Amino acid sequence: MHHELSIAKNILDGVLKEAQCHGAKRIVGVNVNLGALKGISPEALQLHFQCITEGTPADGAALHIHHIAAAARCAECGHEFPIEHMMATCAKCDSPRIEVTSGLELFVDAIDVE
Ligand SMILES: [Zn+2]
Repeated sequence: MHHELSIAKNILDGVLKEAQCHGAKRIVGVNVNLGALKGISPEALQLHFQCITEGTPADGAALHIHHIAAAARCAECGHEFPIEHMMATCAKCDSPRIEVTSGLELFVDAIDVE
């Protein structure tokens, strides 16, 4: 199974439960926060989401993906800087001891219902 497919299913499961809780009949939009370090293709996620929502209360719902840029803090000097990947070193002192502060997010922020 594709990574994005299982993620799309997790998102849909959560969204359907949430909608049921609120007695919503139809889900029109889903807002997802996606960190740059998750290695997930937004296009693939969109496609899978559209496909698996067919025939569910989320049929036709728009998936809004909000990108969260990756950043880290150096454990040595405290410098905060944007990163491209997990193996990055400090932009100031070149220390490999960095703590990722953002970019690993993957969660449903809000859903729009009718
Ligand atoms: Zn540093």
